Amino acid sequence: MSGVVAVGEPLLRVRDVGVRIGRSTILDGVSLDVPTGGWTAVIGPNGAGKSTLLRAIVATVAHTGSITVDGLDVAALSARQRARLIGYAPQRPVLPDGISVADYVLLGRTAHSSLLTGPKVADRREVERAIDLLDLGTLADRSLRTLSGGESQRAVLARVLAQRPRLIVLDEPTSALDLGHAQTLLELVDELRRSEGLTVLSTLHDLVLAGQYAQRLVLLDRGTVAATGRADEVLTEENLRTHYGASVRVVTDAGGVHLHPVRNIGPGAEYPHRLHR
Ligand code: ADP
Ligand code: MG
Repeated sequence: MSGVVAVGEPLLRVRDVGVRIGRSTILDGVSLDVPTGGWTAVIGPNGAGKSTLLRAIVATVAHTGSITVDGLDVAALSARQRARLIGYAPQRPVLPDGISVADYVLLGRTAHSSLLTGPKVADRREVERAIDLLDLGTLADRSLRTLSGGESQRAVLARVLAQRPRLIVLDEPTSALDLGHAQTLLELVDELRRSEGLTVLSTLHDLVLAGQYAQRLVLLDRGTVAATGRADEVLTEENLRTHYGASVRVVTDAGGVHLHPVRNIGPGAEYPHRLHR
């Protein structure tokens, strides 16, 4: 039943998903659609369940309800089948020791290579392409563990792209990157989304970036979906106050939705400079 999903139809369908760990309910009744070829961002305060939702989608945590990609139940797929459909970059990836960056990216080809014959020319080509895309050429022979936080984050994305999945699931892909590198990486992902029809589901703690790159935001709070829609529908002063406990002024212009944190200093409040008189 593969390949039945048309452009614009949901590639990923999440229906009434629950996750319990021990006695805690981490996700409850979560439903969402990720349209084919689109970018959907999951946002929400710390501990809302964003990473757990992504882990349920890549079947590394057990769930109730239904999660399908291209009509296929993710929990019923073999690891190899799943890896051909979904590429996943965790928030805190485990980086193997004693392996070069190029060999790490080659791991992304595992689901495509034969275990008997090993990597083929085509696999090497995919690895080179991914290394080029992420600008890792000068680091290809370096030991993976010696990379900086931002460089390892790029290496992880290279591995995911070498996998050539239909859907990429990225958990805080810019958390270790400065603003310039974050923009470069998000632009690259968006370019691949447009040119190759890649479908993207990511968490992004930077709400302005989330609103600029994703067509659709899903706001999670305490394990349930609190709001879904375009950035201007979800990133409202009311939602940010209710779900983040944040005091923010929202300004929308041609560049998108901008958030300005507001500090409420009333008459008589202690100004920091007074402490240094
Ligand atoms: P987010 O990514 O939105 O910050 P997470 O999905 O990482 O949130 O976590 C959601 C909640 O589930 C948190 O309260 C976290 O402590 C809890 N949680 C996540 N994984 C586990 C686990 N393996 N055991 C117990 N609690 C967990
Ligand atoms: Mg998280």
